[in-house]
Amino acid sequence: MEIVSTVSDARKIIKEWKKKGLKTGLVPTMGYLHEGHLSLIKKAVSENDRVVVSIFVNPTQFGPGEDYETYPRDINKDSALCESAGADLIFHPEASEMYPDGSCTYVNMTGLTDALCGRSRPTHFQGVCTVVSKLFNIITPDNAYFGMKDAQQLAVIKRMVSDLNFDINIVGCPIIRESDGLAKSSRNTYLNAEERKAALILQKSIFFGESLVKKGERDAAFVINSMKEIIESEPLAKIDYVEIVDMNTMKNVSVIQGEILCAIAVYIGKTRLIDNFILNIC
Ligand code: AMP
Repeated sequence: MEIVSTVSDARKIIKEWKKKGLKTGLVPTMGYLHEGHLSLIKKAVSENDRVVVSIFVNPTQFGPGEDYETYPRDINKDSALCESAGADLIFHPEASEMYPDGSCTYVNMTGLTDALCGRSRPTHFQGVCTVVSKLFNIITPDNAYFGMKDAQQLAVIKRMVSDLNFDINIVGCPIIRESDGLAKSSRNTYLNAEERKAALILQKSIFFGESLVKKGERDAAFVINSMKEIIESEPLAKIDYVEIVDMNTMKNVSVIQGEILCAIAVYIGKTRLIDNFILNIC
């Protein structure tokens, strides 16, 4: 496995792979890897001849006052994990390599990005779409892997690929959880012992909401309110949003039908955590 930090070094390697007709998979990450990331890398390894993991804490997707500076980083541990998962190349650029002075072009989306995390973090998806477009242009993968943990991000990337005619297959991968149900996240490391316990309220409300819908409840407001009640029972939790939207448009639904995303964002102390379930109701 190789690690490169410049666009030109990455391109040299990719060019050789293309000459040999090798199929390439890309797993974009911000590093501090856990089993959620590793599940994407392993899937990519099983479906491609070569796999690139990008590790880049992207400044443009963080808003003012968010955790860009404090976001956890450990490239040595990440390299060992990537190698053991079977990755072939880590692309680990500095911010100055990705955004040299004078960089002034951004990829912006409307509609899908107005809801959920896009409403709470107004510049977030512009940063995501821009950096993912850049990674797609640098690595030119055949397949790119994204987790359903960030369900809105997955929908946004699929739509961007369709709208901008990227010739890349987007693969969504299921949420990987801790043994007690908390969705794995690099940000879980911010939680102290008391907050870690309190964080279980996310998964408790998600599992309850999902079971209501599976039992036949179709009133979105009823499901949302039941989930909110559960979260509000935890004193350390503060709701950012609990919403049920159409998976393709990210517009709120009142009746649960078709492919729906129920997504939540909750502060546990100062740490903002997200979770969701996706169901297809015929
Ligand atoms: P991040 O490093 O948080 O930007 O995540 C990189 C990729 O890993 C994204 O596509 C995430 O959706 C995915 N991911 C993060 N956590 C999980 C998880 N618990 N299960 C599955 N995928 C995940």
